Amino acid sequence: MDQNRWHQLPTETLEQSLGCDTARGLTGATAEERLRQFGHNELSEGARVSPLLLFLNQFKDFMVLVLMGATLISGLLGEFLDAITIVAIIVLNAVLGFVQEFRAERSLRALKALSAPTAKVIRDGNTDIVPASELVPGDLVLLESGDRVPADIRFIQANSCYAEESALTGESVPVGKHANPITEPELPLGDQRNIGFMGTMLTGGTGKGVVIRTGMETEMGRIADLIQKTEEMETPLQRRLEQLGKILIIVAVALTVLVVIAGIMHGQPAYGMFLAGVSLAVAAIPEGLPAIVTIALALGVQRMIKRKAIVRKLPSVETLGCASVICSDKTGTLTQNKMTVTGVWLSGRAIQITGEGYEPVGEAYEHGKPVDPKHDQSLRRLLQIAALCNNAEVVRNAEAEDKDGKGKKSAERKEEWQLKGDPTEGALTVLSSKLGMSAKSLEPLYKRIAEFPFDSERKRMSVIVSHQGGRLVCAKGAPDMLMEQCAYVLWEDKVMPFTATLKRKVAEASEQMAGSALRVLGFAYRDLRSHDRCETTEEAESQLIFAGLTGMIDPPRKEVREAIATCRRAGIKTVMITGDHQLTAEAIANQLGIMPRGGIAISGRELSQMDDEQLDKISDNIYVYARVSPEHKLRIVKSLQRQGHVVAMTGDGVNDAPAIKAADIGIAMGISGTDVSKEASALILSDDNFATIVAAIEEGRNIYENIRKFIRYLLASNVGEILTMFLAMMAGLPLPLIPIQILWVNLVTDGLPAMALGVDQAEKDLMKMKPRSSVESIFARRLGWKIISRGILIGVCTLGAFWLTLSKAPGDAGQLVLAQTVAFATLVLAQLIHVFDCRSSRSIFHRNILQNKYLVFAVLSSLVLMLGVLYLKPLQPVFKTVPLDFREWCLVFVAAGIPTFVMGIGSVLSSGRKKSKTKWTPSGKHSTAR
Ligand code: ATP
Repeated sequence: MDQNRWHQLPTETLEQSLGCDTARGLTGATAEERLRQFGHNELSEGARVSPLLLFLNQFKDFMVLVLMGATLISGLLGEFLDAITIVAIIVLNAVLGFVQEFRAERSLRALKALSAPTAKVIRDGNTDIVPASELVPGDLVLLESGDRVPADIRFIQANSCYAEESALTGESVPVGKHANPITEPELPLGDQRNIGFMGTMLTGGTGKGVVIRTGMETEMGRIADLIQKTEEMETPLQRRLEQLGKILIIVAVALTVLVVIAGIMHGQPAYGMFLAGVSLAVAAIPEGLPAIVTIALALGVQRMIKRKAIVRKLPSVETLGCASVICSDKTGTLTQNKMTVTGVWLSGRAIQITGEGYEPVGEAYEHGKPVDPKHDQSLRRLLQIAALCNNAEVVRNAEAEDKDGKGKKSAERKEEWQLKGDPTEGALTVLSSKLGMSAKSLEPLYKRIAEFPFDSERKRMSVIVSHQGGRLVCAKGAPDMLMEQCAYVLWEDKVMPFTATLKRKVAEASEQMAGSALRVLGFAYRDLRSHDRCETTEEAESQLIFAGLTGMIDPPRKEVREAIATCRRAGIKTVMITGDHQLTAEAIANQLGIMPRGGIAISGRELSQMDDEQLDKISDNIYVYARVSPEHKLRIVKSLQRQGHVVAMTGDGVNDAPAIKAADIGIAMGISGTDVSKEASALILSDDNFATIVAAIEEGRNIYENIRKFIRYLLASNVGEILTMFLAMMAGLPLPLIPIQILWVNLVTDGLPAMALGVDQAEKDLMKMKPRSSVESIFARRLGWKIISRGILIGVCTLGAFWLTLSKAPGDAGQLVLAQTVAFATLVLAQLIHVFDCRSSRSIFHRNILQNKYLVFAVLSSLVLMLGVLYLKPLQPVFKTVPLDFREWCLVFVAAGIPTFVMGIGSVLSSGRKKSKTKWTPSGKHSTAR
């Protein structure tokens, strides 16, 4: 088949050419065979960095190269042992760096795979969702508004179908799609109106198509290189840290040069000083910082996945910690989206419906008496519309049926009914089935000939069905919007003009239902005469006869109330934005504790009447936006941002994409969200749950704090190391640490504990703090001071221990080795104690030391390794160490403990002072005098 002629073929020829069945789809076996034959439906990826290259990259660092050069020289000069040890340490360091980076890259790749697209196919007559990569030519694909077209397809059905093809054609206005053959042989892509191209988006309507090309054969495949747009995977913090790293290199090198010069001036041998200087530079430069940051981010992101939040853009992890407002959809995010119709309203009659969930068992009651739908014309009409203007299906879960085996009913087993489709429509399907008018029973009599799908702009949907030679329009939607399209009303079984009085009655009934937190839908119909045109939505949805209302419950999610309270404590405001009725929205907002006293609820209509200035004045006080259209969301985000907020915004539909993109953290729904919204988002909730956003924010805050923790640890350690050497040289003392010892400290005490800090548990009050400012420096909240002061204390104490030991026999070579061992042990121990300090924003005494098992393990192994270096005979000559006696250990412990003790006491005293200054405000809230 000529690749460019698919658009010319009628459906039958299409079936022959592709060996497929346009009703039942391919069989599973054929699909499998074709997958082997044609390969996966994927665009080939750009080249990846091989593990070998990643390993070799570890040696690229300038100072490491200098160290290798120096080692080579010392090897040539006969210092074999030194040279071998240094090389071994460098290689070990590289392995550690490699493992870190490899893990980081692998987790990033895993993240990408998680958000991989899926497709809805019909195979063996059943509808299934499969990974888009498993599609094969001939597969029958179903598409709806918001879906990404998963392969090149030829449409065989298209209802009000529009596709946005700018990625391919550059044309940003969506083009209409149809299913008819086009005769012209050669057509540019933009004119192939019956073809859907891979990677483009359906922005309206529904469609069905046969896959004609997959993977690199598709039109997108041909220009694959152009669209290999990788998501931004570096965060602003990472970039800032890279810059910081460069500054630190300069500082470290400058100080090292000073140390070397001072040493030489005080009579140290030049070569020895040079090697010590290079080792010091290697140790002091925090080259591991970017990798540890990436790991902390990647592991944090993995923890988020466990809590059902998938991060698509790494920078958003950082922004999450700054979020000050969450704008959330109502249906499905704050509520369960498990709808059940509990009431029907027909021309002044209120009818109650019994039954729970999706099980189609229940009855109708009016004033406590059963209603027989068979003899109730108005009710039958409403049920008919509910069943026909509906795409949902409720089926008995096969697993549940099998559970008791051989059809026996077990007493405790509950029937499980599964919904396929939209929950609002599912509730209506169940309603109709409960009262004896299931879609199945109507199927032989009514054939659907057209559909005008639901969209959140019109807030209604309609279908045209043929029946006994005539045509009937069935419509349903938000009552206020639907009533505008109705000229008549079915009142007490008679069709009458829809007068203002009757309209008011309907509106009052609808508001009453909405006020009790019910989701209210209106129903309408019209018999078409033979000459009535009905091609467009406007034509179909006009002159309708209003038939009645239904009210359905959608219970709030259980965990959401607590999540909202957590947000409030964390200084994060929750705003509900919904397409639903204002009264329904307010009732649910009150149930969930969203609305504070004095909070405002406004409707989309009121919002439209305001200009941005007016909105800005009150947007800080608005907690509920009801009956909004997607374009309102963009205005809301922008207004909140102008008030200085960092905004997280959820969305699921096609038209939500601009707001999701504009928000600081765009959030899409994993279950109900469209591909368009997912692609615009930074975060996907795999369970559509509001509480997951809060969990993600908590993780975001924790990741940031963990990054601060290990920066604090690494930099304070480095300051300590440099200062020990620097002060010694300035004081004209011998080298307190020899090069190998410096490298050892760098390898063993810095790397492992820092990584363990990267996965530390959150502090208890993490979600009681106000959101951090997005422009806050990483050294804010006294972190810079903590690093410098602790670094100085570590340096001074290490040098003090060295000097005290040395002063017992100055000039004695053996005493110098002992003093260097004491300095080495003090430095290691001081850092290992300090690492526990770093876990708390206050001091070591404020947290359980054993809580972070990785850290305990890392510290213990570092200790054991240090003892090995001191006490294992073969290692002593290599590291120039000697065993210490009890008194020397006492000195080491005291010197190493002083920094933590001094800072800890300081922090306990200052928090005591703060507490005594805390007073009660009249509202009963704590306020701390600053
Ligand atoms: P949220 O934006 O919080 O998810 P929502 O689901 O109520 O709220 P929309 O999906 O835009 O928002 O629905 C708006 C209104 O449209 C609903 O209140 C309902 O009256 C009506 N509606 C919803 N689904 C359908 C449907 N499938 N067919 C017809 N009307 C519908």
